[in-house]
Amino acid sequence: MALPAPEVRPEAKPYWDALAEGKFLIQACNDCGNRYHYPRPFCPSCMSKNVEWLPVSGNGTIYSFSLVRSKGAVASAPVFVTLDEGITLLSALVDCDYEKLTIGQKVRLKLVPTEGGPPIPFFTPA
Ligand SMILES: [Zn+2]
Repeated sequence: MALPAPEVRPEAKPYWDALAEGKFLIQACNDCGNRYHYPRPFCPSCMSKNVEWLPVSGNGTIYSFSLVRSKGAVASAPVFVTLDEGITLLSALVDCDYEKLTIGQKVRLKLVPTEGGPPIPFFTPA
């Protein structure tokens, strides 16, 4: 079952377009050097609009995660991933043995298709 397509807002269109091409982008502030994700038209640190897109590897490590269960089975696994490029972002873990996950485990980007839209970025063990 494919996921519903995300709502693509104008300020995040380059981000979703890149995902459709298999590339993962974060943003970087040209005034204060802050790097961040999710997409915003201004830097959340200094409010500057002088920001640019920055391609990243999609490789990282699990900073923290949770297993959300429904009737005993894992229904979802929200995760904070620290990318190799240094920023930490919220996503979810997919395609894995949930009982073997550990903090500090290496993960990589896993794009999951949607119905008629760009893929959603999740993570899976590397
Ligand atoms: Zn800034």
